[in-house]
Amino acid sequence: MIQLIRGFKDILPEESALWQHIENTARALFEDFGFREIRPPVLEKTELFKRSIGEDTDIVEKEMYTFPDRKGDLLTLRPEATASVVRSYIQHKMYAADPIRKMYTIGPMFRRERPQKGRYRQFYQINAEVFGEASPYIDAQLIFMLVSLFEKLSVTDSNVHINSLGCPECRPDFRKALSELLESRKKQLCEDCIRRSERNPLRVLDCKVPSCREAVSDAPSIIDYLCPACAAHFDTVQEMLVKQNVRFEVDKRLVRGLDYYTRTTFEIQTGALGAQSAVAGGGRYDGLVEALGGPSQPAIGFAIGLDRLVEIVTLNQESLAKHPMVFIAALGDEGIRNAWLWSNDLCMAGIRTEVDFSGRSLKSLMKRADKVNASYVMIVGESELKEGSVVLRDMKTKEQHTFSMDNLVENLKTFLYQ
Ligand code: ATP
Ligand code: MG
Repeated sequence: MIQLIRGFKDILPEESALWQHIENTARALFEDFGFREIRPPVLEKTELFKRSIGEDTDIVEKEMYTFPDRKGDLLTLRPEATASVVRSYIQHKMYAADPIRKMYTIGPMFRRERPQKGRYRQFYQINAEVFGEASPYIDAQLIFMLVSLFEKLSVTDSNVHINSLGCPECRPDFRKALSELLESRKKQLCEDCIRRSERNPLRVLDCKVPSCREAVSDAPSIIDYLCPACAAHFDTVQEMLVKQNVRFEVDKRLVRGLDYYTRTTFEIQTGALGAQSAVAGGGRYDGLVEALGGPSQPAIGFAIGLDRLVEIVTLNQESLAKHPMVFIAALGDEGIRNAWLWSNDLCMAGIRTEVDFSGRSLKSLMKRADKVNASYVMIVGESELKEGSVVLRDMKTKEQHTFSMDNLVENLKTFLYQ
């Protein structure tokens, strides 16, 4: 038997109602905030990710699914969506008509990491990106929108962490101070962090190895190094979040693994998923559009890990389950033919209807109606056909109603819509 690839998974029909509910809630909310959907492809030139995510990141160093296609072009299954959205913004000159663009996208991402709970090799993200707005109000609004989505989904165990990464003007000073500290603590660092401390020291702050965490526990805070403009930006973000009653904590260790982030950075963390604590992450990436060959345009965005979000949504799954409203228990050829026609009409009228065409006994049909959890069973037996009527039984109250076959669908609609 051929099985699926390690780290990949099926989202089964029993689970998909919850996924759809989350996706639909996100779509509706984001569109109310002025976002429109963009659907970039899942395959891009490898170069795009190397340039945007950065060569020194875990993603580019060891997580990408990269392969040459038949002509030898190096292609990569996207490990994240931002790079593609930025490429699209530039390629279609979206900035020309209106530099301010708000876009969201939902879809699969691919990273070859060690699979574990909440960590897969194909996983799903909901992304939102805003281009052309440098104002801190947008940062705060995006965080508010993200938090509101979690609230709408009744997520209880989540915390907002925010930080500022400064800008190319002030970050070098911090980087230097951090490098000096790392140099003196080299012995405590893991192999990856020794390499990082030379090439991308900020990323050491993000390392999950306990000895590395210990080594940087008293690291300087980047907040103390922000230039006046970055400090004012960060202050406004916090002020607006407070005004909007969004609870958050400033987390000096919060850095993004991706190179292109500037200023505001944020993450939603949960205690419910063990080591996989990040459910969503994002931040400002003012330098990326230009770095990828576009005009200088500020941008900010976030990515929600949908697989992890699904795990912590506390909604009652039963309330999302889609049971048939009507199950038609039809007996005999004529009964089945009638049922077939009626069921099509009922389905088209938005009344979820199922028929069993097997010609089984009434007893086994009733069992099946129970199994599929139908609200009503419509019995179409020989005596019903003779009398020109059908019986509709309410499976909860056991009440029975008789309907004439004339105008049946119309009358059922009126009855069931009530
Ligand atoms: P982590 O620190 O857990 O590896 P990350 O920093 O690599 O996360 P991002 O690149 O910021 O993650 O992606 C945004 C979100 O996507 C994460 O917060 C997480 O919820 C989700 N995510 C990332 N990698 C995976 C994965 N392999 N499987 C499932 N979800 C993931
Ligand atoms: Mg990761």
